[in-house]
Amino acid sequence: MSPTHRMPAKPTGLDCRLAVLGTEMRLTPHRREVFQVLAESTNHPTAYDIFDRLKDRSSGISLATIYNCLEHLTAHGLIKQVQLDRGQSRYCANLHEHVHFYCDTCGRVIDALPAAEFDAAKFWHLPPGTSVSRLDISIHGICPACTAKPAKTETPNPQP
Ligand SMILES: [Zn+2]
Ligand SMILES: [Zn+2]
Repeated sequence: MSPTHRMPAKPTGLDCRLAVLGTEMRLTPHRREVFQVLAESTNHPTAYDIFDRLKDRSSGISLATIYNCLEHLTAHGLIKQVQLDRGQSRYCANLHEHVHFYCDTCGRVIDALPAAEFDAAKFWHLPPGTSVSRLDISIHGICPACTAKPAKTETPNPQP
């Protein structure tokens, strides 16, 4: 099975998203490819990760092109930029309302969808009459994989 660059047989997540937005934006093959990589990825790749995955199968793609595509897709609301305290920006193509869980040990960013109807205006004290348009909440901790692993010796100092 070789991935084809143009004319997907059935509508992709991107096509659905574009239909919902009613956006008449033109998507270059590169932008499509970048979106596809993001949509298929479960771990919020960085621009480098995306470049790594596309450089062999997409002719003429450069890191600069990737950044360009990411900027364009973010600006049109097709993907989200995931801000981390430090390090590379990551990107998310999960279009459902969700927040991000950051593993402080391995750096994984995991999507967390709401488990129940959630009203930010009821959960936090906001000025009366506030209208909430989106949530930008991050949750930090240790992911299940890291929790299961025996603690690594990261510091030369002996543990007490
Ligand atoms: Zn996400
Ligand atoms: Zn982890």
